[in-house]
Amino acid sequence: MSLTLTVDGPRWRAHLEDVARTHPGLVPVAKGNGYGFTLGRLARKTQWLADREHDVTTLAVGTYDELPEVASRWRGDVLVLTPWRPFVEPVDPALARRVVHTVSRYDDLRALLAAEPEARLVLEHATSMRRHGMTGRELWDAGALLRKHPGARVEGVALHLPLQQGSHLGEVNRILTSTVAADAGLTTAWVSHLTDAELKSLSASWPDFTFRPRIGTSLWLGDRGALKVTATVLDVHPVERGDVFGYRGRTAPKSGHVLVVSGGTAHGIGLEAPTGDQSVKARAATLARGGLDAIGFVRSPYSIEGKQRLFAEPPHMQASMLFVPQGARVPEVGDQVDVRVRYTATTFDRIVVEG
Ligand SMILES: *Cc1c(COP(=O)(O)O)cnc(C)c1O
Repeated sequence: MSLTLTVDGPRWRAHLEDVARTHPGLVPVAKGNGYGFTLGRLARKTQWLADREHDVTTLAVGTYDELPEVASRWRGDVLVLTPWRPFVEPVDPALARRVVHTVSRYDDLRALLAAEPEARLVLEHATSMRRHGMTGRELWDAGALLRKHPGARVEGVALHLPLQQGSHLGEVNRILTSTVAADAGLTTAWVSHLTDAELKSLSASWPDFTFRPRIGTSLWLGDRGALKVTATVLDVHPVERGDVFGYRGRTAPKSGHVLVVSGGTAHGIGLEAPTGDQSVKARAATLARGGLDAIGFVRSPYSIEGKQRLFAEPPHMQASMLFVPQGARVPEVGDQVDVRVRYTATTFDRIVVEG
C-alpha cells in the first residue's frame, strides 16, 4: 500500500565505501529528509563507515533542530551547516563537545564566544553563492578576536561553493589566500561541490591545508542504479468516454482505465510539467490526434512498463489517479509501478534495504 524505496544493499554500501575511500576526511551530509533515507538511517550508515575504518570523523546536519535525530545513532562530531545566530537555543550540554558550529558573521563570533568560550567552530568565508559567510576583512577581524580566546576550538574555514559547470579553482585560491592572511590558525578547509580533480589540484597547491569535502547527493544518491522507487496499484476502474471521476468531477476523454496508485502530496508527489510542446499549433495538433495532454492532463512521475502515464487529476494526499487509455496493458490491484521522484523532496512509506 506504499510508496517504497528499495535499496540494493550490497551495491549501495559498496558505493558509500568507494566514496569514503576516495575522499579522505569525508564529511557526510545528512539534512532535510535525509535525501529520502531519513536522517537516522544516514547517521547509522555514517557510523558504519567509521566502524569500517574509513576516515570519517564528522557528520554534517543542516540545522540545530536536526541534532537529536543523528546524535544517538552516530558517535562522532556533528557539524551544523546553518550558521549559528544569537537566537539559536543552546545545544544540549551532553552534546556540546561534539558539536561544531558554523560562524558566518563577526558579531556572531563575538556573541558565541561570550556564551560559550570553549565552542568548537568553523568560520565560513563568503563565496559567489552569496548565501552566508564573512568577507576577507571580517575573517581578519575574527582572527584577531580568536587570538584573545584561547579556549575556543577553531576547526577551520568553511566554503559553500555553487554547483557549477566551470572550475572553482580560481575562487577557492582567492579565498584560501584571504584565509591565510587572516592569520586565524585556519589550516583545514571544509568544502562543498568540488570535483575530485579540483580537490586533488588544491591539495597539491595548498600542502599546509587539509581539505574536508562535505558530500550529500553524490554520496547517498550517487549510484542511482542501487535505488528503485515503486508505488502500489490500489484500484483499477474501467471508464468509457464521458464517465465522471475524481474530486473534481472530470469526465473521461475517451475509454480506458482510471488507476489509483499509492503516493500523493504528503509524499512529495507533485504535478509534472505538461507534456511536450505547448505552442498553440502543437496543442491543436495534439487535439486533432486526440492527445490527452491537450485536454489538460499532465504528466505524472509514474510509469507503467516503461511508459510515463498522465495524472487523471492532481495528486491526492496519499494516493494519485492516473489515466491509462484503451489499448495499453492495465496493471492489477497489488502490482507495483515505477515512480520517478526527487529524492530530496520525497517521504517514503517504506525503505527496504535488500541484502
Ligand atoms: C547541502 C549542503 C552540502 C551538500 O550538498 P550536496 O549537493 O547534497 O552534496 C554541502 N555544504 C552545505 C553548506 C550544504 O548546505
